[in-house]
Amino acid sequence: MGSVVISLDAELGWGFHDLTEPPADRVEAGRRGWSVMVELLEEFDVPATWAIVGHLMLDSCDGTHADHPAPEGWFERERGEWGDRPDLRFGPDLVSDVLESDAGHEFASHSFSHVLFGRPETDRKLADAELERSHELAADWNQSIDSFIYPRNDVGHRDVLADHGVTAYRGKSPTRDGVRGVFDSTIRDQSMLVEPVVDEYGLVNVPASMFLFGFEGPARTVAESIWEDPMVALARRGIDEAARTDGLFHMWLHPNNLTRERDDRRMRAILSHLERQRSATDLTVETIADVARRITGPPSSTERATASWS
Ligand SMILES: [Zn+2]
Ligand SMILES: [Zn+2]
Repeated sequence: MGSVVISLDAELGWGFHDLTEPPADRVEAGRRGWSVMVELLEEFDVPATWAIVGHLMLDSCDGTHADHPAPEGWFERERGEWGDRPDLRFGPDLVSDVLESDAGHEFASHSFSHVLFGRPETDRKLADAELERSHELAADWNQSIDSFIYPRNDVGHRDVLADHGVTAYRGKSPTRDGVRGVFDSTIRDQSMLVEPVVDEYGLVNVPASMFLFGFEGPARTVAESIWEDPMVALARRGIDEAARTDGLFHMWLHPNNLTRERDDRRMRAILSHLERQRSATDLTVETIADVARRITGPPSSTERATASWS
């Protein structure tokens, strides 16, 4: 039985707050794209893994975060340029939309303030604080954190994830994103499927197959005018491959990738194809947590016995 996973990095302004020049179209599309994705996934009854930046679950803040061991200036943009843009810094309304959706989404973490875990500047103390704060907020919302998606897929401090009871994360895609990725896979006809693996910390790495918006700009416009949207073609191929085999196809995006109507059309085309294959075959849709549970299985009787003694 093959399966498909969709994961979203939900971040509003936090995905860009550390950049010297945040891309205005993406920053401004965060709320729009979020709502479009909630509606589309509900329409097609597709549960997804929503990895949400913890700060968005706050109603307000003083912008100092004095207890947080982040480097000097980390919260500068929310205090300065975005001081009057609460819509980019907070999103409890949007988080509620995800939690209340009938699609049955997985609530997951994308850290507290989009810290890059793989950077040498990010020490264990900061990684730990990001997880700790995310956990507190999740608990306030009656949620737990089973899955974690690293900001910018920058994997690091996996031991800290394990310490905080996280069971799975999204690993890097084996294929290259963007224009190169499109040609790598179409020309060489390589598989779109990925293999979840348990790492040395007991975490399940559920790698990405493809980023749905890695082929943009002028190249996209030219390609679309000659053929159909090449990313839709690739996603269809991955879905078909999962349906034909018992493999896993994992696509991901940011809600803020939906900057224009043609982006909505891309997502609708992919979800329509998924719906067709789901009704014609025994293909299923899973969340990252579903995959992790399937891979690790229920705890064995010995493990349960040991756990009850400790
Ligand atoms: Zn804040
Ligand atoms: Zn992100």
